[in-house]
Amino acid sequence: MTRPKMNSERASHRLAEISALADEVAEEICPGTGRVDPFEIAAHLSIPVLAGNYRNAFDGLLEFRGGEFYIYYDAERLGGPDNSRVRFTVAHELGHWYIDEHRECLKQGVKPHGSWTGFVSDNAVEREADCFAAHLLMPRSRFSPKACAIGPNLKEIFELAQEFDVSRTSCVVRYVNSNVYACAVVLVSPENRISWICTSKILADRVYPTVRPGVLDNATGTLGRIARANADPDFGIHDGPVDASTWFRYADGSRDEELFEEVVSLGRFGTLIFLSTEE
Ligand SMILES: [Zn+2]
Repeated sequence: MTRPKMNSERASHRLAEISALADEVAEEICPGTGRVDPFEIAAHLSIPVLAGNYRNAFDGLLEFRGGEFYIYYDAERLGGPDNSRVRFTVAHELGHWYIDEHRECLKQGVKPHGSWTGFVSDNAVEREADCFAAHLLMPRSRFSPKACAIGPNLKEIFELAQEFDVSRTSCVVRYVNSNVYACAVVLVSPENRISWICTSKILADRVYPTVRPGVLDNATGTLGRIARANADPDFGIHDGPVDASTWFRYADGSRDEELFEEVVSLGRFGTLIFLSTEE
């Protein structure tokens, strides 16, 4: 995930290590080709998972108390154990346990933080746990063949989200990171500011990794699609062509090409924009 102010090889190397760790855990504890169950993994680790009403204090929390770890999730906000957001939240808290630095902080008495999960937080620690969760629920060996078999469009990616029982946002991010096509996904805040962008390596090899400053100030086509998506109560996909130079600067300074832009509302989380070089 690349942010306007944070992009380093070290960060991407670390996320690659975390992805590999999550892939290993999934294969070891939930082998096969089916759905990965984070509750089964917590049970394997003897970590109780406790649902409750935590009054919007967090989506999830990993706590170290009396020598034991506990996972909590807000069932009032997120729903029951089969809800994809609960599954992602429990997987995210497992990330805080499996990632050494996160777990050791808690064991050394650092106060646990409440997690806001599902690629909505700006915090680097939260991003790492989200990355772990995405790979735990969509392991490479199960996800990559399916990602290769579909076209680069939101309709088919959302079908994959249903198959893996994950949120649409986490599935799109996972798809872009699987590097099958030259594509990118952007989260736009409800105030029409770019929260983050994730660019596939194939596309990032051709363009500068950050989007143009003020990209949304004059991108009338994109702004129109965002407005229509947010006015659409059925969360429909609003699409159309856009010049790549609207979003990106090309490394060789001369190229431009047409991208296909798909926009979908995420309600109170803002708007998701998927950009690809193939319609
Ligand atoms: Zn967290």
